[in-house]
Amino acid sequence: MTLAHRVGIGYDSHRFAEGHGVILGGVLIPAAVRCTGHSDADAVCHALTDAILGGAGVGDIGEMFPETKAENAGRDSIEMLRLAVARVRAAGWAPAQCDITVIAETPKLGPHRPAIRERLAAAIGVAPEQVMVKGKTNEGMGWIGHGEGLACVAVATLVRVAPG
Ligand code: MG
Repeated sequence: MTLAHRVGIGYDSHRFAEGHGVILGGVLIPAAVRCTGHSDADAVCHALTDAILGGAGVGDIGEMFPETKAENAGRDSIEMLRLAVARVRAAGWAPAQCDITVIAETPKLGPHRPAIRERLAAAIGVAPEQVMVKGKTNEGMGWIGHGEGLACVAVATLVRVAPG
């Protein structure tokens, strides 16, 4: 049986280092830290990419963009997200909507939410109203609470479309 809708979930985390800002959802947010990672360390894009690939059942971000490949070093994660959506569309699925939670003590996401929603919406081919982004702290608990890094969870709904 072919479903008309599917749901995918993605998770990502990145460690903080001293810096001047973190990139989340393709938007540089000023901060006293940066996220370390092989690409541009955009946990929002990485979690959303995995949610979209997972929903369509066409792989995952680690398989599509291996850290062993030099071309993925410092890579723009919005571009990775676009390429993942192209793979999903070729398999007959399209993102319809997504919901994202960033768990971090810093930076505050609020003022940057409209810009993040617009960037992600353009990348996955939906209206900004279909991209939800929320920020939460971890109430000072654990590695997130101690400011070691941040985490992100994303859920994406996909609809069946003609392959192409
Ligand atoms: Mg990542």
